Amino acid sequence: MARRSARDIARRIVAFYRRHRRDLPWRRTADPYAIWVSEIMLQQTRVATVIPYWERWMARFPTVSALATAPLDDVLAAWAGLGYYSRARNLHAGARWVAGEGAGELPRTASGLRAVPGIGPYTAGAIASIAWGERAPLVDGNVARVLARLHGVEDDVKSTAGQRRIWALAGELMTALAATDAAGELNQGLMELGATVCTPAAPACPTCPLSGPCVARADHRQDQLPRLPARKAAAELRELATVALWIQRRGALLLARRPAGGLYGGLWELPQGDDATAAADAVGVRLRGPARAVGEHRQVLSHRRLRIALARAAVIGEPRAGDDYTAVRWSTPRAAAALGVSSATVALLALGKRAAAR
Ligand code: SF4
Repeated sequence: MARRSARDIARRIVAFYRRHRRDLPWRRTADPYAIWVSEIMLQQTRVATVIPYWERWMARFPTVSALATAPLDDVLAAWAGLGYYSRARNLHAGARWVAGEGAGELPRTASGLRAVPGIGPYTAGAIASIAWGERAPLVDGNVARVLARLHGVEDDVKSTAGQRRIWALAGELMTALAATDAAGELNQGLMELGATVCTPAAPACPTCPLSGPCVARADHRQDQLPRLPARKAAAELRELATVALWIQRRGALLLARRPAGGLYGGLWELPQGDDATAAADAVGVRLRGPARAVGEHRQVLSHRRLRIALARAAVIGEPRAGDDYTAVRWSTPRAAAALGVSSATVALLALGKRAAAR
């Protein structure tokens, strides 16, 4: 990209952002912690979903140190329903790092931010450019789509070569930014363009500020770019079939917490196993008679399919943690849904409550 055209493109993106930016709550602050939280929540999640979560989160954990001193259970509970819980665990670990090694302050450069657990190149670029105006580029899915179409990038944008090319293009734009323009506006403008104009299907090219220089538009190849790795069809994904037990005593429901790391690490769920006996074993109890099937929950994740049969069971013995679960607790079915639980567990709780009401 010639430097002059890069400057022209950067100028168009900044002008677009100033005119069309959506008024989002995290855009009204320059607090790097608030921006960090918003960027992590926005990964894989729609803006409309994130807004109430972000507002509740900032009320509950208004500073890095408030988050660092909060128990992980409270953090996961505040995240409940947003999915991809490793993001909440990483935020918590990152806040603890800042409170300790960082002496309470987030590092003030993109390269320094990379030392914080859970902050990758994208998040570092976002915080550094938006909070402090550092000329740090960033690339997420929206930015990759805009730049791949704009420049007619033929590489798979998730491949190493494709990533290198897209990051280089983002870096060139940042370098070419006029002295009077803000790095945060360029980055947010690129993301805003990808989110609202250069959308995956049916991009609004006639209204796009980049329609003049855009290679994909000139070649009528918007639907072919960016190139992405082929996704596996749901039927090709490995299926994980388990049984979850609904064990109730005096109105309270038995929950067990998964070990940190791995699928749904650190979250609470109904005890599960390959079959009802194994599920009871996992929390150190024995079945009193056969478990009674209640229903089934199916869910497709990015890398596997889940099929969880729900069964009511009466058990003998006192539940305890062991190799499969790090803790057990009794909770009302209603309170259980407000703990740090996965969307699969939310669905199973609803299924169990419906069955109980029948
Ligand atoms: S002209 Fe169309 S394809 Fe090109 S960047 Fe704009 S919206 Fe995307």
